[in-house]
Amino acid sequence: MSTQTIGFIGLGNMGLPMASNLAAAGHNVLGFDPALLTSQQPDNSNLSIEKLHLKNSLSEAVNDCDIVLLMLPNGHVVLDVLQQIIDARAHPKAIVDCSTIDIEHARQAHVLAQEAGLEFMDAPVSGGIAGAAAGTLTTMIGGNAELLKTLKPVLQPMFKTFVHCGNAGAGQAAKICNNMLLATAMIGTAETFNLGEKLGLAPEILFNVLSTSTGSCWPVNSYCPVPGVGPVSPADNNYQPGFSAHMMLKDMNLTQSAAQSVAQATPLGAKALALYDDYVNDGGGDNDFSGIIRYIEKLGRE
Ligand code: NAD
Repeated sequence: MSTQTIGFIGLGNMGLPMASNLAAAGHNVLGFDPALLTSQQPDNSNLSIEKLHLKNSLSEAVNDCDIVLLMLPNGHVVLDVLQQIIDARAHPKAIVDCSTIDIEHARQAHVLAQEAGLEFMDAPVSGGIAGAAAGTLTTMIGGNAELLKTLKPVLQPMFKTFVHCGNAGAGQAAKICNNMLLATAMIGTAETFNLGEKLGLAPEILFNVLSTSTGSCWPVNSYCPVPGVGPVSPADNNYQPGFSAHMMLKDMNLTQSAAQSVAQATPLGAKALALYDDYVNDGGGDNDFSGIIRYIEKLGRE
């Protein structure tokens, strides 16, 4: 695969390691993030950031690029940045948006890009900061399947799994469905370990049962919310994220707006949103989302 020039917009917790993996694979990566201008070198010695070329403006990062990647906080920012790329008269082969945003903004972004003669894909990711650093994220894609085929070799250093989900916005739809299941499964796991403890079961014993029985699921087997149980997880680091409760609340809000827009009942999803809202209001927002076990533990029996 030939070396590509890639503009990477949004170098936060996820974007920086993703961009670094592209640079480490030999691509010419031009990064822009207003919080990370050339004067403020990022503080992350594990990443091959010396290979990233930080730029002081969006246009410097996107003009003359083969591909532009976005990793931004929300749909408003994505549309704003896309408009700036169009105004800068940049003509990349494709713009790939890896941010998690609402489906409506994702569809608007496809239309905006198309009207400007640009190819666009929504490609949100799963796997968190650890997956971003390891280059093992799953990406779920909405947009042209042929375009995905041509981009795959370039995107490979960031992603272990690619799933083409359908047309414009389908990647975002898949992402929020995944995270609704993750939130409800985490709350179920948290309740189960809290109850088990009150019933006198040692958490390691309960883990040995659940992880090999029909109760097994990712929050039990791979990301247990109880410290010292199962593989190392944020619970072993005092619930430092990981994936913060703020982020989970953002995704649950996207999920519930989407469910409302298609009149689909998601009673557990709605309850999970309410519980994450309560947890964040209780001060848990900066904790990993698995820390909700401590909040639920404190609740009295209704
Ligand atoms: P973050 O807040 O660390 O990074 C977002 C970055 O975007 C910030 O550095 C910010 O300065 C930058 N930014 C904002 N406006 C900008 C603009 N106009 N131009 C250029 N840069 C701009 O967030 P994150 O954790 O990296 O998450 C990014 C996206 O990935 C979000 O949509 C999030 O929901 C999604 N996501 C996050 C995780 C996770 O574990 N953190 C996992 C999966 C998906």
